Amino acid sequence: MADEVRVIGIPRGLLFYKYGVMWQTFFEELGFKVVLSPKTDRAVFEAGEAASVDEVCLASKVYMGHVVALLEGGECDAIFVPSYNSGDVRAGFCTKYQSLPDLVEATFHERAAKFITMRVQKANDHKSARLDFIELAHRLNASPKQALRAYKQAMRAQEAANSSRVSSQQETLRLLTKYRKVAASDPTGTEQAPLVILLVAHPYIAHDPYIAGDIVAAIEGMGATVIFADETDHATAFKRSFDFSDTLPWMINRELVGAILQTYDKIDGIVLLSAFPCGPDSMFDDAVMRNMHGVPILNLMIDAQSGSAGMETRIESFIDILRFQGKGRYLNA
Ligand code: SF4
Repeated sequence: MADEVRVIGIPRGLLFYKYGVMWQTFFEELGFKVVLSPKTDRAVFEAGEAASVDEVCLASKVYMGHVVALLEGGECDAIFVPSYNSGDVRAGFCTKYQSLPDLVEATFHERAAKFITMRVQKANDHKSARLDFIELAHRLNASPKQALRAYKQAMRAQEAANSSRVSSQQETLRLLTKYRKVAASDPTGTEQAPLVILLVAHPYIAHDPYIAGDIVAAIEGMGATVIFADETDHATAFKRSFDFSDTLPWMINRELVGAILQTYDKIDGIVLLSAFPCGPDSMFDDAVMRNMHGVPILNLMIDAQSGSAGMETRIESFIDILRFQGKGRYLNA
C-alpha cells in the first residue's frame, strides 16, 4: 500500500485536536506529505450531516464532513483514521474514538477511497502506544530505525505544542490575577479586572471555529477573557480529577474536571459546552452542575439543527450577572 501512497490526508476533527501535531509529524518524518482538511464551515458540516445517521453526535458528523472534504479535495492518496482506546476503566475513551475506522469505512465503502487505520490500544502508556505506531510505520514500509525516530519526533512535537499552550494559558492567568489584585486594592472602585471564563468542552468542540467560534466571540465581545480547560497540564489535571470522582470513566472528562479544580480560584465563571447527543457529557455535565459549588456555571448544548443560534443572549445575560455579582449587588452572593 505504501508504494502507492505519497500524500496522507488527516481529517480535522475529534482527536485531531488532541493528537494532531503528533500524527502530522509522524507521517512527515516518514517522508509523506500531509494534507489537513479545511477548517470546519457550513459546507463541511452539511456534508458530514448528509453522510451520517441522525443519532450520532454533532462532533462525529463534523468529523465525517472532514472525511468528505478530503475525499472530494482529491489531493491525498489515503486518509488516516485511527482508533483510540485507553485500556483503563478509570480513563476510558468515548466509543466513537474506538469505532471510528469501522464507522468511516462502512460509511464510504462505495467510494474508491483508501484509509490508513491503526489501533492505539493504550493511549497513555507510551511503551504500548510506541509499539502501535511502529507497527503502522512497518505497514508503510519504514525501517525499524525510521519508525522509532518518527515516533520519538512525533511525541516531542506533541509535547512541545501542549507545553506551549499550557505556558501561554498560565501567563494569561498570571496577568489576570495581577489585574485582580490591582482592582481589589483600588479604593475608588473604578478599576475593574476583566472577567475570566473557563470554557469546559472536549477540545474538538472548544477549538472548532464552526462549533464554538461564535460562543468564544460572544464571551470576548462582552469584554471577558476566555481560557480553555483542555489547555491546562493534562497529567496534573488528570490526577486532580480524582478529588472530584473516583469512578468517572472518561479520560478527557477527567482532564476537564481536573482543570476546573486547578483554576477554580482564578476564574469568575464556567461555560460548560457540549455537543448533542453526547453520552459522556450527559453524565459529566450533570455531575459538574450538581457538585461544583462556588463558581457560576452556564451549561450550553449545541445541536445540529440550531447550532449556536440564540446562545449569544444567554452568554450576555450570564456575563451581566457575573459583573453585577462582582460589584457585590447580590445579598446572597
Ligand atoms: S465524547 Fe461526546 S461529543 Fe465526543 S465523540 Fe463521544 S459522544 Fe461525541
